[in-house]
Amino acid sequence: LLQLYAPLNFLGSIYSSIRTSLVDLEHMLGLLDEAVEVADPAHPLPLAAHLKDAPPVVLAFQDVHFGYRKDREILHGVSFSVPPGGLIAIVGPTGAGKSTVSRLLFRFYDTWSGKVMIDGHDVREYRQADLREAIGVVPQDTVLFNDTIGYNIAYGRLGATQEEIEQAAKLARIHDFILSLPEGYKTRVGERGLKLSGGEKQRVAIARTILKDPRLLILDEATSALDTHTEREIQAALRAVSAERTTVVIAHRLSTIVEADEILVLGDGLVKERGRHADLIARGGLYAAMWAAQDAGQDAAPGSGMEASAP
Ligand code: ATP
Repeated sequence: LLQLYAPLNFLGSIYSSIRTSLVDLEHMLGLLDEAVEVADPAHPLPLAAHLKDAPPVVLAFQDVHFGYRKDREILHGVSFSVPPGGLIAIVGPTGAGKSTVSRLLFRFYDTWSGKVMIDGHDVREYRQADLREAIGVVPQDTVLFNDTIGYNIAYGRLGATQEEIEQAAKLARIHDFILSLPEGYKTRVGERGLKLSGGEKQRVAIARTILKDPRLLILDEATSALDTHTEREIQAALRAVSAERTTVVIAHRLSTIVEADEILVLGDGLVKERGRHADLIARGGLYAAMWAAQDAGQDAAPGSGMEASAP
């Protein structure tokens, strides 16, 4: 019996030291302090995903408090609402909590208190998969698959016809560029293929999102400076994807949000100012100062002014 017991005892001690190491590792990664995993409700509400099937999303944040770790609140009571088809732009210095707002929309995390509402219901009432289907993102930096440029666009809705892919590419102002490539839509791109510029990749992402046809759109603007022609093409492409769709712009270049229905100036997790561009300029506060600073630096780098100047 002793012979049997010794190895078991040995295994037991290995098990306990592995467990301790795992807990240490979790602590190291900060996982134990993170918000608990979000869970789907037992009886989820249906949520239409596509603009072709339902009107654009009605979106609201109601006094949202949230932090990634228990000891550090990041959003201290943020409220705003966007009517169906409206466009809200969120600006503010780096670390203000702009991307946190978009992560809460996807319900990557739950709020500490307050609500994120879509179509008049708390996002916790929907299935996560349905939320992610209804929201489209044009990210700062798009990852391209090692495949054809056509496939990279079709990924927005696998099964789309060539005609639909080309239609989306035209709206995203990337069709003519694709036709100029050696093998057109069959040209391979990505790490092992043709490298696209930041502006071209962004337009591929926009075409992808046009195909996906989500009811809510998040534009996470690139900070990088673009030449005037590219900037204009991207603006036209963004207008095509955001028209008619409820849109949240995480803005880094102020020039893109002049036409926003509402601009939310976030600072230290609070809404410091809100309103339309002209009102905020007239007010002569934080936004006006960001605008003036960006204007001053415009010739050198259109993306840098706001980040550098904000307090
Ligand atoms: P930027 O303009 O630089 O992208 P931002 O306004 O989007 O900044 P957020 O990314 O929302 O800022 O971050 C807000 C705060 O939350 C920052 O202080 C950041 O360090 C912190 N934060 C962001 N993600 C996490 C995370 N996963 N765990 C812990 N803290 C985080």
